[in-house]
Amino acid sequence: MAVLKQLTSNKAIALEDKYGAHNYHPLPVVLSKGKGVFVWDAEGKKYYDFLSAYSAVNQGHCHPKIIEALTNQAQNLTLTSRAFYNDMLGQYEKFACELFGFDKLLPMNTGAEAVETALKITRKWAYEVKNIPENEAKVIVCENNFHGRTTTIISFSNDPVARENFGPYTKGFIKIEYDNLNALENTLKTNPNIAGFLVEPIQGEAGVYVPSENYLAKAKDLCKQYNVLFIADEVQTGIARTGKLLAVDHENVKPDILILGKALSGGVYPVSAVLANDTIMHVIKPGNHGSTFGGNPIAAAVAIAALKVIKDEKLAINAQVLGNLFREELNTYIKTSNIASLVRGKGLLNAIVINDDDDSDTAWNICLALRDNGLLAKPTHGNIIRFAPPLVMTKEQLLECVSIITSTLKEFE
Ligand SMILES: *Cc1c(COP(=O)(O)O)cnc(C)c1O
Repeated sequence: MAVLKQLTSNKAIALEDKYGAHNYHPLPVVLSKGKGVFVWDAEGKKYYDFLSAYSAVNQGHCHPKIIEALTNQAQNLTLTSRAFYNDMLGQYEKFACELFGFDKLLPMNTGAEAVETALKITRKWAYEVKNIPENEAKVIVCENNFHGRTTTIISFSNDPVARENFGPYTKGFIKIEYDNLNALENTLKTNPNIAGFLVEPIQGEAGVYVPSENYLAKAKDLCKQYNVLFIADEVQTGIARTGKLLAVDHENVKPDILILGKALSGGVYPVSAVLANDTIMHVIKPGNHGSTFGGNPIAAAVAIAALKVIKDEKLAINAQVLGNLFREELNTYIKTSNIASLVRGKGLLNAIVINDDDDSDTAWNICLALRDNGLLAKPTHGNIIRFAPPLVMTKEQLLECVSIITSTLKEFE
């Protein structure tokens, strides 16, 4: 039995507006149920979810196997802290290390925490293994990056809305253009104190920017040449979203440090992780880093189940096949469209660019119309709409969604 009474959508919005900090600007729709590729609002209207909680719900809403792991574990043991061992964490660490091909995993909760963890490991490695002089280590990052919301992470963002009046900022970051190997090589060549290169294999928040072919492979080679750690933030692109288990797999790149979050739990629980081999992870000793909830038994049970679903249901290949179909269908429409100028992406991480000024509200208005027509998506930076449905979608469902999207765009031509 639900403890709280069911609210109308208007009431739910009014409550958040009055009592919640205004740190988001949600599309006006109030969701109260989800299953697979669908969500329902408080009045019972059904929608296709084309955001998947920013690619956290790759396995579909409330996947029965993941919910079973959650509820079973919740009745046995929820939290021990790392002051003691628990009987789930090691099993999860082994499962994930074998699946992704690393020696060790460090468990955290949110994506931003995992990014922070990767940066701390990188700096410690720089001083203790690479012998960079104290406090001189630098990490290269990319323009228009999105890695989360902590003080350090926003220090190397160039999004004014995310940064303004949150200073003083953390030092030690060098920003270069994304998808520019010359910029990377020049920075590596001219600075001996580079510890790592932090990169998103596809820039999701920035608007689903897919870099040139082999960018990641060549960037990895450069990092190797200069003894710099290649750090892949796969929080959004990982776990089958782009048509491979990891987006770096498209170029057969093995990162030195891999950052995962979001779909690591199928959107059921906050679970993030940093993976690396022993030569890097061994710099972390007791007391150097931690989290009360990181590695808790519920997270461990949920993450094993979530990763098994990805494998058992072959979601990577489904994302690849449906992604190709999606871009093909939308490209056909866009050829004759004035309102949409292009579709780009990989697997089921895609975006369309709306043919209007960056500061116009056309993309927002299209998302409102999509909502009215039964499909939920959200504009991202500029006039761009991201399309990232759960990966458990069928071909028939995808084609129905394409027809919702194209008939909605027609209303704006
Ligand atoms: C969402 C995201 C993060 C931050 O994850 P949170 O769980 O929101 O802290 C970091 N990196 C990338 C690429 C992301 O998409």
